[in-house]
Amino acid sequence: VVETGTPDRAVVTTCAYCGVGCTFRAEMRGEELVRMVPWKDGKANRGHSCVKGRFAWGYAQHKDRILKPMIRASVDEPWREVSWEKAIAHTASEFRRIQSQYGARSIGGITSSRCTNEETFLVQKLIRQGFGNNNVDTCARVCHSPTGYGLKTTFGTSAGTQDFDSVMEADVILVIGANPTDGHPVFASRLKKRLRQGAKLIVIDPRRIDLVRSPHVEAEHHLPLRPGTNVAMLTALAHVIVTEKLYDESFIRERCDWDEFADWAEFVSDPSRSPEAIEPLTGVMPDEVRAAARLYATGGNAAIYYGLGVTEHSQGSSTVMAIANLAMATGNIGREGVGVNPLRGQNNVQGACDMGSFPHEYSGYRHVSDDDTRRLFEQAWGVALDPEPGLRIPNMLDAATDGVFKGIFIQGEDILQSDPNTHHVAAGLSAMECVVVQDLFLNETANYAHIFLPGSTFLEKDGTFTNAERRVQRVRKVMAPLNGYADWEIVQLVANAMGLGWKYKHPSEIMEEISALTPTFAGVRYDRLDAEGSLQWPANDSAPQGTPTMHIDGFVRGKGKFVVTSYIPTDEKTGPRFPLLLTTGRILSHYNVGAQTRRTANTAWHPEDRLEIHPSDAENRGLKDGEWVTLRSRAGETTLRALITDRVAPGVVYTTFHHPETQANVVTTDFSDWATNCPEYKVTAVQVSASNGP
Ligand code: SF4
Repeated sequence: VVETGTPDRAVVTTCAYCGVGCTFRAEMRGEELVRMVPWKDGKANRGHSCVKGRFAWGYAQHKDRILKPMIRASVDEPWREVSWEKAIAHTASEFRRIQSQYGARSIGGITSSRCTNEETFLVQKLIRQGFGNNNVDTCARVCHSPTGYGLKTTFGTSAGTQDFDSVMEADVILVIGANPTDGHPVFASRLKKRLRQGAKLIVIDPRRIDLVRSPHVEAEHHLPLRPGTNVAMLTALAHVIVTEKLYDESFIRERCDWDEFADWAEFVSDPSRSPEAIEPLTGVMPDEVRAAARLYATGGNAAIYYGLGVTEHSQGSSTVMAIANLAMATGNIGREGVGVNPLRGQNNVQGACDMGSFPHEYSGYRHVSDDDTRRLFEQAWGVALDPEPGLRIPNMLDAATDGVFKGIFIQGEDILQSDPNTHHVAAGLSAMECVVVQDLFLNETANYAHIFLPGSTFLEKDGTFTNAERRVQRVRKVMAPLNGYADWEIVQLVANAMGLGWKYKHPSEIMEEISALTPTFAGVRYDRLDAEGSLQWPANDSAPQGTPTMHIDGFVRGKGKFVVTSYIPTDEKTGPRFPLLLTTGRILSHYNVGAQTRRTANTAWHPEDRLEIHPSDAENRGLKDGEWVTLRSRAGETTLRALITDRVAPGVVYTTFHHPETQANVVTTDFSDWATNCPEYKVTAVQVSASNGP
């Protein structure tokens, strides 16, 4: 289907799908991509790949791509193709008009975790320098923002602690709220290899994911907890570790604040937090919880890997900190084979966060209110910068419906499909006077746009991506942009039309600016990346060769911080009308909202989203496998086919969100993480009933 002939040249570049960051040889014949061959020297993948990176690149030349800019006066009018010059001038004048009419804080933007570090750095610079505010956010808002908050609070750094190779030194692997086989397949292969060598596995997940039982791999313990009870479960594990004195006192005394540990230990020791006491909440047998806690604490090197099943909850940040507490209490931090490892979703979501895409932080996670940091950027950029944190995505939408936020620049993110409560997103976008969407395709969000700027694919640009193990790798241009410009050039055109006078000739010059302004990236340069293949940040004078394992001699924040994390039930409740709990996830062949993979042969493997429902729940409702059902919540309803399976427990249903026909997020709620506003995608009370179809 995709391998179309004999190549005459090859370019090494990085996959644009998930946070594993596999590198490939893009084999070309002239300007035609012939095939993607996993690169054996790639440090993240070592010659391996999955069906997305290997086969699902046909979208880059798909007929649906929009290659000419378009504008329209209102969303009721048809699009009108215009020249790049006109589109850029119109974009700049609209943003300037809104600023002068409604004030500097009335506009903002969203960076893309699909774009390069250099491009996201430029978008946040455009907003801070040109828009004059900190109204910048990124898709991490809806995925791993609790990771940023939780790990920065406890360890001092908003990133995972290990490289992928570290798993080969683990004796016990705890996977919570992640499904690596589907979400991070190449890392999952390495993890399974370690399990086949004898490491023990604990899975905490409401579903019986593939890792629980697959050929040659079987979890020692699967704790199939009720969605929304992560904190109660992790506290019960801590209860066993503390009350049975399985903690590592010398590590805690040396590396952490002992008084904070003592407070935390007293809290978790309370009998109300024992595995027996929380069984009615979680639905998990206490003996299994006790056995899992003992294994994690005493089984040797113990490593935790987690995903969005941890973060996308009203207690997402608390859950991340509860995980960090466990690792510190047992001394499982600061060497190979241990650690706390978020499996980041998007190819460059780590990088987008590193590059200052948050409304409260510059690149390198430094707060906008910090005078020294702000002065550094003011000197570099020649303007006074706003010391007040800006608006997060949901707050921008709220402010729009309140009439005080009027314009937005959205690069490479389909918020209408990916963000929670679709009706709320639509209302916010509808209330704005200028919505600029830059993307490959006319996505769902573009239905609400006034200006559409065609984007470029990863094959059409130079730059870098940073994967889930903080590894910065080169993205190399293999063909000229079909739309005429790489995304970084388009941002520069907008900036200069707004009078900012940028003069970047190549993304390497943007990286020079990033390195100069960001201590953790001080040693990252293109010549080094080309010579060494990759660098894991921090890469600077203190760590010239980069940092595969963090917190070896001490935590970045100094002493590791234990945080008491009380379990607070979500406000999303089941009841007679909505008796089931919906949770969502991804499947191997597709990627997120499917904008790319649905335009490739991969879609044949998964042509539609289905609703997994337990046989007993299906029988109670008279449902048959493959029949249409209506999925209804307090927020909305959608229609999809049933898939009857005992992978989900009774009372729990599950679906993916790859197909716009389903619009799974029509039913998800407005509830979000208390610290970061990360939406609670993983817990929605729903009803399911038979349907005649859409
Ligand atoms: Fe590797 Fe992820 Fe790309 Fe698959 S999608 S090839 S695992 S980077």
